[in-house]
Amino acid sequence: MNLIFLGPPGAGKGTLAAKAVGILKVPHISTGNIFRAAIAAQSPLGLNVKAIIDAGKLVNDEITIELVKERLAQEDAQKGYILDGFPRTIPQAEALAGFSRVDTVVNFDLPDGSVLERLGGRRVCRQCGVNYHQTFNPPKKTDVCDACGGEVYTRDDDREEAVAKRLEVYRDQTAPLIDYYRQKGLLTGVDARPSVDQVVENFRKAVGV
Ligand code: ADP
Ligand code: ADP
Ligand code: ZN
Repeated sequence: MNLIFLGPPGAGKGTLAAKAVGILKVPHISTGNIFRAAIAAQSPLGLNVKAIIDAGKLVNDEITIELVKERLAQEDAQKGYILDGFPRTIPQAEALAGFSRVDTVVNFDLPDGSVLERLGGRRVCRQCGVNYHQTFNPPKKTDVCDACGGEVYTRDDDREEAVAKRLEVYRDQTAPLIDYYRQKGLLTGVDARPSVDQVVENFRKAVGV
């Protein structure tokens, strides 16, 4: 099954994708995680995108589309995938339609107040990308990843100024994808407000898995 996870920053897409991987046995492809890994490795891509991401803006469509096209061509994505954080613009969605067939677009709904609460406390493992929250889901040992022992940190783009910019970018450039996919008959909504386990249930019902 080829799935897209849509929703505002902080809605819980990455958290749900990590759970859904266990259910669907398909890879979780997060453009944000790919960019952060490139930044950590100080690769040419990473050096290119770091300032843009830290400012809460979008990486340009051309670079992002090429990256996803290459990733989806890999062996493990042939049996299905969860695309998290892509597409984020109409041109990205149109490009995707040219090289892959999307089955379902899952839109994670969360009011603005909760978005700010989730982003404000988000903590991420620098090594494996697993998400935590300082109040709702802290690692067992302060600043140490339960999964891999890596360092758990606050993303630069989860600071207040960048968050405001990201929400603006979401409204202007990404939210139009909701109607875009609804018109194609591919959209299904998931209430992202309850606990992670409950959101997993909502997801299973919405997608029928
Ligand atoms: P969030 O957790 O807020 O949904 P992500 O981890 O998906 O954020 O993305 C972090 C940042 O990486 C974005 O703010 C943006 O700068 C960049 N990025 C990720 N995906 C895309 C994309 N599809 N197009 C452009 N930029 C992207
Ligand atoms: P996204 O990938 O959509 O940007 P994340 O999965 O990174 O969102 O989640 C954002 C923050 O909210 C993280 O700190 C995560 O631990 C927390 N979180 C995710 N889902 C829930 C939930 N259902 N209830 C409470 N906190 C959540
Ligand atoms: Zn880790």
